Amino acid sequence: MKTILVTGGAGYIGSHVVKMLGEAGYEVIVYDDLSTGHEWAVLSGRMVRGNINDTVKLQELLQQYNIDAVIHFAAHIIVPESVGNPLKYYLNNVMGTLNLLNVLKQCKIDKFIFSSTAAVYGIPSIIPVAEETPLSPINPYGRGKAMIEQVLSDLSFSNEIDYVTLRYFNVAGADPAGRIGEGKPDATHLITMALRTAAGLCPHLDVFGTDYPTFDGTCIRDYIHVVDLASAHLKALEYLFNGGKSDVFNCGYGKGYSVLEVITAAKEITGNNFQVNYTGRRPGDPPVLIADCEKIGNILSWQPSHNDLHHIIETAWNWEKTRIARYNG
Ligand code: UDP
Repeated sequence: MKTILVTGGAGYIGSHVVKMLGEAGYEVIVYDDLSTGHEWAVLSGRMVRGNINDTVKLQELLQQYNIDAVIHFAAHIIVPESVGNPLKYYLNNVMGTLNLLNVLKQCKIDKFIFSSTAAVYGIPSIIPVAEETPLSPINPYGRGKAMIEQVLSDLSFSNEIDYVTLRYFNVAGADPAGRIGEGKPDATHLITMALRTAAGLCPHLDVFGTDYPTFDGTCIRDYIHVVDLASAHLKALEYLFNGGKSDVFNCGYGKGYSVLEVITAAKEITGNNFQVNYTGRRPGDPPVLIADCEKIGNILSWQPSHNDLHHIIETAWNWEKTRIARYNG
C-alpha cells in the first residue's frame, strides 16, 4: 500500500482528495496547520497539525512515515487578499513550498503533485487557454504559484523530482453525499457567497464589475466540480507511479459562465431571489478564464463526471445547508 502525504488536506479541495485517496486504498497522512482547514473534514488517514514553514516538524514527520508521494495543497488562495497583503502570500505559498521541497529532497521523496491555478495565465489573449501559453500572472497569488512552477521545472530538469502541476480553474461544489464541502466561514468565492446570501448569512451579493468586455459585462469563469478535480489528483498520482514524466495540466471543463449566469442558476436552485448589488471591479480579476482541457484527457485519461453548473451549485447548496445546521453558520 502506498502512503501519500497531503499538505493542506483539511481544507476544501484537500479534504475531497483525502477522502478519494482513502476510498482508493491509499494510506494518507494529512499535514495541515488548521488556519483555514478543519479536522472534521479529514475523513481518511491520520491528521498531523503543522505548518509548511516548520522545517523540524516536517523532518520528524517524514522520518516517522515512509512517504511515497506528496500532494501539496497548503496555501493561501484569495486573490484580492494577495493584492492587499502580498508578503503573507510569498511567505506561505513560496517560502513554505521551498521549505517543503528542501525537506523532501533531504528525505529522498521525489514524487510531487502541486496545486497551481489559472491565475498564472493573467489575462490570456487566446481563450480557451492552453498549458503552453506563456505565464503572465497579474496578482501576487498567481505570481507566487508561477514561481513555484518554475522551481519545479528546474528541479525536474536536475532529476531531483518528478512532478505534476495541476492548474485549477474555478473550483466549486461539494461531496454529493454531503459530508464535506467549503468550510471557511470567511470564504469569498462567487458560488459560496451567492449561496450564503440565499441562506440569509449575507444581506446581499456584490457583483464586482459590469463593464468587462464580455457578453453581459461580468467576468466569465470555468467552474469545475471539486470531485472531478479530486479525481484529477488520483490520475496524476497513478501517472507518476507509472513513470510518467513531469508535466503541467489545466483542470477545467472548457466552458465558461458569467457571474450573472451563476447568480441566475443560484437563485433558481435555492428558490431565493436574493438581493444583488452591482459594484466596481475587484482588483486582480481577469475578464475571462476558460481552460483548454484536452491535454489532461489525453495524457492522464481524466474524464469528468460532474460537469454541469446546476449540479455543482446543487451539491454546494446541500452542503451549505448541512454546514449551517451543523456548525451554526
Ligand atoms: N465575484 C463577484 N462577487 C463575489 C465573489 C466573486 O462578483 O462576491 C466575481 C469575481 O469578481 C470574479 C468571479 O466572480 O469575476 C469569480 O470570482 P471568485 O472569487 O469566485 O474566483 P477567482 O476567479 O477570483 O478565483
